Amino acid sequence: MPRPLVAEVDLGALRHNLQRVRDLAPNAKVLAVVKANAYGHGMEACALALESDGYALLSLDEARTLRELGVTRPILLLEGLFGPEDLKGLRETRAMPVIHHQEQLRMLEMSDLPPPGRVFLKVDSGMHRLGFAPADAADALRRLQQVQGISEIVLMSHYACADEPDGTREAVRRMEELRGWQAGLAILPSSFGNSAALLAGQAFGRGRAVPVGDWVRPGIMLYGASPMAGISAASLDLKPVMRLRSQLISVRQVAAGEGIGYGATFRSDTPIRIGIVACGYADGYPRHAPTGTPVQVAGRITRLLGRVSMDMLCVDLTAIAEAQVGAPVELFGPDLPVDEIALAAGTIPYEILTGIARRVPVTLIGDHGST
Ligand SMILES: *Cc1c(COP(=O)(O)O)cnc(C)c1O
Repeated sequence: MPRPLVAEVDLGALRHNLQRVRDLAPNAKVLAVVKANAYGHGMEACALALESDGYALLSLDEARTLRELGVTRPILLLEGLFGPEDLKGLRETRAMPVIHHQEQLRMLEMSDLPPPGRVFLKVDSGMHRLGFAPADAADALRRLQQVQGISEIVLMSHYACADEPDGTREAVRRMEELRGWQAGLAILPSSFGNSAALLAGQAFGRGRAVPVGDWVRPGIMLYGASPMAGISAASLDLKPVMRLRSQLISVRQVAAGEGIGYGATFRSDTPIRIGIVACGYADGYPRHAPTGTPVQVAGRITRLLGRVSMDMLCVDLTAIAEAQVGAPVELFGPDLPVDEIALAAGTIPYEILTGIARRVPVTLIGDHGST
């Protein structure tokens, strides 16, 4: 029998979450963000299952993988070109680059190769990570317009604080100012919305909806986790796509006062019945999840005990007398939101999902779909 730890990926839930994006932005084209192996869910299967209008990812290798699978829809490279030689790869994959820096503009201008047909011109609206400063945007646009062969330019920006109420106010002001005084920029199609921006109206009230543009770029919400700390995925009508499930591989009684796990960081005052679960930090479960982090065993919520080790973790079975070796365990999933595990471990669901190790086999459920 294989090790019982499995990441079950529900493609029906994935499609439900895409429909949520469509409902929230009915006129926008949806670029499903499938970077980081589709946030740990498996890029190939997720891309094929999603009837989005295109995909967003990071590398030409990922773009090639999708093309080899027969994907014909647009693919956006979120960090654009890394060197002039990437122009060849862009041609081969027909991927669209983000152009966020002078160096990348120069690569387009200097190349003998025909440029990509559509490029995304990224402007920094306050995050100060990637993008042209607003004052340089009009000049960058002019230069892009002079590159023969580029037929469409999309004005792009990324919100730094869309997960907070009114967190986008300053960014929106900067983009509006830009579009107000620069006629050329004002008429470009746009791409602003990530998951938090798409969900802001629902999370914080209708009046708090923020501009998402003509091309939206949802990531985390497609996978059924909430981008907003303290606002549950269920309240946003998102369905968890991954169920990380395993089994108890050992059950034992431990005397009062005995330490449990590395460092004996947990000791019970009373005799305690514990279970050992086949799942550890080398599988991607957060090592910093403390005693008390919820775990579901045999359909009941209990708590983690002591330190998470590389391949195993320990749970309290005091109140689950019937749980024996082989009892089913859900580390997170439809019955136990990953957001709760993230909160307990002092991180965000993004980090947990993208950190699920390749050694954890993925099982697909729901219809598999095709391109
Ligand atoms: C990762 C990423 C997204 C998706 O963000 P979510 O919060 O997961 O929706 C969108 N746009 C850019 C530029 C990104 O890097």
